[in-house]
Amino acid sequence: MRCLSGTNKKRTVFYLLDGARPDILTDLIAAGTLPNLKRIVDDGTFRIATTCFPSTTGPAYLPILTGHFPGTMNIPGIRWFNKKAFKRSRWNTMAMRSYCGPEASYFNTDMPAEKPTLFDLLGDSYNLYNMITRNISAEFDLGKKGKSLLYTRAHFGKRHHPVDIQGHERIMKLLKSGKDFDFLFAVFPSVDWDSHYHHIKDHRTIEAYKIADNSIGEVRALLEEKGWWDNTLFMLASDHGLTPTHTHFDLSDWMTAQGLKAVSYPMIWKANPKCAVMISGNSFGSIHLLDHEGDHVLHQPELMKLFGEERLTALVNQKAVDFITYRGYHKGEYYVQNGQGKALITYHEEKYDYQPLDADPFSIGPISAASHLAALELTVESNYPDALVQIVQLFNGDRAGDIIVSAANGYDLRDFWEYPEHKGSHGSLTKEHILVPMLYNQKGWADHAARTSDIFPSILKWMNKPPVPCEGVALNSIANSIILDESR
Ligand SMILES: [Zn+2]
Repeated sequence: MRCLSGTNKKRTVFYLLDGARPDILTDLIAAGTLPNLKRIVDDGTFRIATTCFPSTTGPAYLPILTGHFPGTMNIPGIRWFNKKAFKRSRWNTMAMRSYCGPEASYFNTDMPAEKPTLFDLLGDSYNLYNMITRNISAEFDLGKKGKSLLYTRAHFGKRHHPVDIQGHERIMKLLKSGKDFDFLFAVFPSVDWDSHYHHIKDHRTIEAYKIADNSIGEVRALLEEKGWWDNTLFMLASDHGLTPTHTHFDLSDWMTAQGLKAVSYPMIWKANPKCAVMISGNSFGSIHLLDHEGDHVLHQPELMKLFGEERLTALVNQKAVDFITYRGYHKGEYYVQNGQGKALITYHEEKYDYQPLDADPFSIGPISAASHLAALELTVESNYPDALVQIVQLFNGDRAGDIIVSAANGYDLRDFWEYPEHKGSHGSLTKEHILVPMLYNQKGWADHAARTSDIFPSILKWMNKPPVPCEGVALNSIANSIILDESR
């Protein structure tokens, strides 16, 4: 039924506050620094959710927009490598990727075409600054005009806030234009940038939180004026946390020093490489060994033979390395190893097991979880929230490496290639990178542990759209309390 005034129509406004940490957001709200978010929380909900591994910009938008993890979407990093494509020909355009630059536009076609985004499903859907723009026409891409120049200036001049301020102005212009909308997805990038280049609590970072808060206040006032606010789902979340970085460890240089000449961005044209190293965030590294027959990903026995126990031990004993993970012998088996020893994760018929062998790298003891939700609930309070599901999903595609490296907090895996230098990092599986804020102007949704992948089905439900198969659970569906019980 068509409603002329549009006040009964359901709408969704989503703010992605890139790199926002739940603890910092909590403190700022409590201190009265973010009055508009405080109003949302007072009438609605503030909870902490888990993002995905790697916890990095771009791939970590996927759970929110598609309900699927980066491994399932085969985008397992902001940079990735495909051994099969590379071995066919290193000129193959599908051999490797860095979305930090001109290749960013490939993101849309690198994803499986049959997996829809919220933009495909929700009618008049507007985008601001998010890099996943598949099927979004220029008219609906609010930040597109002038974006590259503005982003370049922000990056090299370290003047980030004009991007967020312009973004807000574009939202207001849309809302004042008389046009209606169904879905608005707005990225505010400066919290991430200021945290990378200054500090997670620098005054400029705090100012970036305030710009988003101010935007929310003005957007809300306008929606209230139109009589739309009461039927609008407002949500805010982040894609990852961040920790300050004191030491750079260049994983690519380390591999080269180990006799395995590495290609990595930006030095991707080295002759006769023995491996490729792809870094994201910069606390996540993917190592792809090349010096072997065939073009397949390596499982444990072959990996040990090629890489050697000694090198593996040297790698996990680096201070910068928190743990590594790699495929086991059988399908659904993954080893997790640190300086103390290793544990085995097994995924079989929707069940997740974690068995310490000679060590317990995640300090979670043996775990046997009957479902992905149980696996989340059993790890969410640990230092590695959702570790089991996140490691299993990462290896779903064929672009995840033979060895995955997760950096220790305080370190990153990329040296002097960054300009300006990075003083903050994310991408790892530690709780400081994985836990993100999730706020919405509703109460009474399911209160079991949540992931950012739950946002996708929750928004579909809010908009009265049919469910789409995904790796999330609608938090606003009464059925999910039953799902959780059955999973136990
Ligand atoms: Zn980010």
